[in-house]
Formats: sequence, structure tokens, C-alpha cells
Amino acid sequence: MSVEQYEIVVVGAGPAGLSAGIFVARQRAKCMLITKDLGGQLNLIPKLENYPGTIMSSGPLLAKTLENQYLTFGGEMTYDTVQKVEEIEGTTDLRIKTVRAEYLTKALVLAPGKVPNNLGVENEVQYQNKGVHYCTKCDAPFYQGRVTATVGVGGYLLESGILLSRMASKVYLIYRGGQLGGDKEMIESLKRKNNVELVPNSSVTSVKGSNALQQIQIKDSTGSSKTLDVDGLFIEMGSKINLDFVKHLIKINTKGEIEVTDGGKTTHPAIFAAGDATNIPYKQIVAACGDGAAAGLSAFNYVEKLKGKPGIRSDWKKTIGDTVFHY
Ligand SMILES: Cc1cc2nc3c(=O)[nH]c(=O)nc-3n(C[C@H](O)[C@H](O)[C@H](O)COP(=O)(O)OP(=O)(O)OC[C@H]3O[C@@H](n4cnc5c(N)ncnc54)[C@H](O)[C@@H]3O)c2cc1C
Repeated sequence: MSVEQYEIVVVGAGPAGLSAGIFVARQRAKCMLITKDLGGQLNLIPKLENYPGTIMSSGPLLAKTLENQYLTFGGEMTYDTVQKVEEIEGTTDLRIKTVRAEYLTKALVLAPGKVPNNLGVENEVQYQNKGVHYCTKCDAPFYQGRVTATVGVGGYLLESGILLSRMASKVYLIYRGGQLGGDKEMIESLKRKNNVELVPNSSVTSVKGSNALQQIQIKDSTGSSKTLDVDGLFIEMGSKINLDFVKHLIKINTKGEIEVTDGGKTTHPAIFAAGDATNIPYKQIVAACGDGAAAGLSAFNYVEKLKGKPGIRSDWKKTIGDTVFHY
């Protein structure tokens, strides 16, 4: 098997990976983007309201636009799954093993994102984005003045309840135990809200509706069931980040996220990272794009320095005659 050499390999075609790819390919570096799918979590966003510069877009449309931009700059892309990243003794190269191939690279940008956990109830998938949502901070604004329920774990549930209480006319906060767990101030704040009804010792067993969600069935610890009429159900069960393929090379925090510092630097000099798989506080598209661009430029500069070149600065300027051009 011939193993192709790249200057930079990017893992993941969500907004972080595609943005990293755009900034790397535009510098004419030889770049390969390896991804399981196009868009990642963008595929779960039919209505996108908070991406600056667009009044109303959709996640899949943004993914396609970013992909076109990356390919236009000469970046290469393949649909595959990265299974292992290895150091190669005696060189600065990394070996990237995927299901179907192997690649050598001088630098790696990780943008594998995360996948929200499902509740696992009947019809859940059918009502995704038709009343069933997995990101309260993203989708609560669509439920202004409407009836909602939220189910989930720990701090995720408390935050979801607080966000919804600012928008929705009614919020059922459903949890399995007898007591809410987590930050005491948040719990007290929720208890004071007139539009929040706490539903302890309960779990959601099914979701129902016609075209969109209309009702959820809940069951309490005594086994009795009841139906709640709701327009939206928010599921906040956390999410999975899978870094098994690279965790032996970089520092990962207790939440399972890649620890990054300025410019997406990890604890490995040749590995950079961006997006939801990192320890950034706000997991949103605009942040993933910005951090992806920074991680891409850091990887490019790292490779330039290996070649004995100075690298670039994102705020570089050029003086022609008396005029200073800022790029
Ligand atoms: C339901 C929902 C609604 C949302 N709504 C909004 C919103 O309205 N506004 C907003 O700003 N944000 C929203 N978000 C958050 C936003 O989608 C994420 O912050 C963003 O997508 C993170 O981008 P990312 O590139 O880090 O990761 P992701 O989008 O998760 O992309 C990760 C990519 O990596 C690939 N990958 C993973 N592992 C491997 C591997 N081993 N090999 C190859 N490829 C791999 C995946 O296939 C995927 O392409 C929402 C999230 C959800 C779940």
C-alpha cells in the first residue's frame, strides 16, 4: 500500500475541521481532510439563526458552503474513519491509520466534535427537530410562549430549565430522582419560577404527535403513567466525545475534552485541535469556526517552522510605497 505524505491532516468535517481546512488550503499547504460525514452536528440544525452574517440559514447549507470553499482552495477530502494516530520513531511525522488507508503528515488538526446522547424512547428519532431537541441553548428561542418539557442529567438539566423558563410559557422539568442535583443557586432559582413545574421520580417513556411533537408520556416510580401536552421536548443527556484514536498522545481533561491553549495548541507539538471536542466554554458554530481557523493557522506555522521558514501572522500587513495594507 502506498502511503501518501501530507503537510497537514484534518480530522472531521464539522464547522471546526472545515474552517481549519479552508485556512490551511488557502496557504497552499498540502492538506487532507478525513471525515466520517459532511457537517457533523450541522446536520441536526434545519434552522440556523445565530451564525453571524446570515439572517436565516441551515446547518447542512453551511456545511456544503464550507466544503465548497475548502475544495476551491485545493484541499483534498476523503470519507473514512480515523482509527489510530502514531508517532514515527526518529522523525517528526505522524502516521494516521484509517479504516481504508494510511497517511503520513507533519501536523494534525483534530476536530472530531461530539454526538449528543439520545434518550432512547420510542419515536424519538422521528420527532428530531420536529419538537424533540438536543441543544437547549441553540433551540430554546424557537419556543417563545410555548409549552415545553426538559429531561436530562445534572447541570445540563438545570441549565436547560433556566433557559427555557425565560422563553416558554411552561416548562416541565422531569428527573428520575426525588431531588434535583447540582448547583444550589440554580436549583433555588428554578424553584422560584412560576412557569416551571418540577416532575420528580419520573422518566419520559414515549413521544407522540402528528407532523410535529404534541404529547409526551411520563411514568413515575410507582409505575403510574400520564400524558403531558407539550410543543417541545429538550433532551439534555450529555454527549459523547470519542478520542480513543489519539488519547495516548495528548492531554485530555476529566470531562473527556482535549485540553487546548491559544491557537488550538495541544500538549503534543504537532497536534492542534478545535471545536466541541476541546475544553472551550461555548460549544457553538461560530466558536468552532473561529477556533478551527486558528488551529489550522497554528498547524501551518508549525510546518513552516519545520522547514526553517518564519510562518505567517493572521494580522500581517504589507507596505507598498506610503500605503500600509492590512490583510
Ligand atoms: C441539535 C443541535 C442543535 C444545534 N444548534 C446550534 C445552533 O443553532 N447554533 C450554534 O451555533 N450551534 C448549534 N449547535 C452546536 C454546533 O452544532 C456545534 O457546536 C458544532 O457543530 C461543533 O462543531 P465541530 O466541528 O467541533 O464538531 P461536529 O459538528 O460534531 O463535527 C465533527 C466531525 O468530525 C467527524 N469525526 C468524528 N470522529 C471522527 C473520526 N474518528 N474519523 C473521521 N471523522 C470523525 C464527524 O463525522 C463530524 O464530521 C447545535 C448542536 C446540536 C446537537
